[in-house]
Amino acid sequence: MHEFNKEVEELAKEILDYSLVRLRTDPPLDGPKSPEELLALAGNTITPEGLGGHKALELFKDVLATACISTDHPRYLAFIPSAPSEYANLFDLVVGASALYGGSWLEGAGAVFAENQALRWISDLAGLPQSAGGVFVQGGTIGNLSALVTARADFRTKRSDVTRWVIAASVEAHSSIKSAAEVMDVGIILIQPDKDGVLQGPSCADVIDRYHSENPTHQVFALVATAGTTNLGIIDNLKSIAPVTKERGIWFHVDGAYGLAALCSPKTKPLFAGIESADSLIVDPHKWLFAPFDACALIYRNPEIAKATHLQKAAYLETLDDDGEWNPSDYAIHLTRRARGLPFWFSLAAHGTNEYATAMDKTMDIAKYAADLIRQHPNLELLVEPTLSVVAFKRKGWQMSEYQKWSDKLLADQIGFVTPSSHRNEAILRFAIVNPWTKESDISEILATL
Ligand SMILES: *Cc1c(COP(=O)(O)O)cnc(C)c1O
Repeated sequence: MHEFNKEVEELAKEILDYSLVRLRTDPPLDGPKSPEELLALAGNTITPEGLGGHKALELFKDVLATACISTDHPRYLAFIPSAPSEYANLFDLVVGASALYGGSWLEGAGAVFAENQALRWISDLAGLPQSAGGVFVQGGTIGNLSALVTARADFRTKRSDVTRWVIAASVEAHSSIKSAAEVMDVGIILIQPDKDGVLQGPSCADVIDRYHSENPTHQVFALVATAGTTNLGIIDNLKSIAPVTKERGIWFHVDGAYGLAALCSPKTKPLFAGIESADSLIVDPHKWLFAPFDACALIYRNPEIAKATHLQKAAYLETLDDDGEWNPSDYAIHLTRRARGLPFWFSLAAHGTNEYATAMDKTMDIAKYAADLIRQHPNLELLVEPTLSVVAFKRKGWQMSEYQKWSDKLLADQIGFVTPSSHRNEAILRFAIVNPWTKESDISEILATL
């Protein structure tokens, strides 16, 4: 802005200094505080006169930031952590400074061009045709919902006598699929995976065909397979599921929010055979592709169907659709969007794709190391061999309350952040390793407390 006077100049230096120190060093894990504690420490920060940049930044540094867990800490292994590369994080500063609009080609051609090349890389790894394309949306939840809305719209053009639209997915599918069904007010049938938790084509065919014969005016419009479940990292049998969808004209959506990232390692790519038949897929670069929040790559085999579904029509927008250019807004449930794929693009462009494969392999090696240590540990039991980088295990004799107590203490002692989960109604622990800076010693330090 034009008010870049001496005071702003100083603030700029402070902000950059803080950001660089934050990026350079392992931050403390930190942890949450109650609203009362935060109010006591921060007070009311919104005042008529304003605090001034310096004071507001101090407040952030000393109070607010320390009440947020550092998701990129090498011993943050709960949920799915985040591990943006330095390049991606640094470039996020540039994106923030540039007032880019990522919704239309007219306004953001350069940014959209770069984002599309990054999407192309994923699309090519999956073996989708050159005509495939999509957009970076906020997260897997919006990605899945946008894809499923497209799938239903597509099927609506084929059948007009349907009284109930239905999604089919594995019992192990992510909660966002069930949430999408709620939002769309459609049914969902959950199919039992095999004993290893893998959804198989033949059981999908059986369940869907039986459902259709029992409910002739109901129609399964999409079958969702998961490429790397969040809890255990299990990849459904895409190769056997694909023909089940093709034979029935059902949309094949692959939810790879976490796991599909491993397409970029030649070692794990074969695990996703069948992905080339997907009608749509998602993968979150903010999970395991070293990009900051929030970025989900949503890719359609035939983006024209998505555009016909999601294009918003308004008088003031008409000029955007006349030029026939690629407008990212048209491919999901959103309109205004930040060019959120750019930090990912920058990192990928700067490092090259080989380095992505190397970083990915590193996290999977650490997952194998963790599995080995767990197998040797007298108190622990490995639940399954890790397929990707999730390691699930049990502490012999522990109930949920004991896991929770351990987890709370681990964070309070600032050793690590690992939360209990459950599997088949039993409490378990899991490490999700997506950070190439997580070392063997980080794993052994945590396991030593069990
Ligand atoms: C994380 C995850 C999602 C949801 O993605 P968000 O980015 O958190 O919205 C969906 N599916 C799977 C398999 C996931 O791991």
